[in-house]
Amino acid sequence: MSSSEVEAVKEKVKEEEIIQCPCGRYISSPAEYKLLYLKKEMNEIDILCPNDVCFLRELGFIKFDVDDEGRLKITGASFYPPFVTWNTARLGTDKALKLLKSHLREIVTRYIDWARVKADVLKRRKEQEERERAAEEGSS
Ligand SMILES: [Zn+2]
Repeated sequence: MSSSEVEAVKEKVKEEEIIQCPCGRYISSPAEYKLLYLKKEMNEIDILCPNDVCFLRELGFIKFDVDDEGRLKITGASFYPPFVTWNTARLGTDKALKLLKSHLREIVTRYIDWARVKADVLKRRKEQEERERAAEEGSS
């Protein structure tokens, strides 16, 4: 095949099998999402579109918790409806949901530095306890 034919085939595979953001950006691998750990107080990580000028930006989220023994637990992981319906309309429900589920799973298992997230949660918890203790000592 010539290189233009190869490109044409790639293009076709792209349209049929690949997750797409409503902004037009194809997301062929879960590695492409941007992950933002900003809502720290809420123990939430945002999943963002790789396109910097995307009008949706937030495509999903992952929520977690760290218990008193320091064990980390995922309490929720989901893509938002506009992103999901866009893809179920394009790829069919079964295929789209399967792909999106595998993306979520890979984000959770491969692309989040959970050790760092957990260390951050524990550090903030400790700081909070120290503040409370200092406040108690101050009031007695
Ligand atoms: Zn987008």
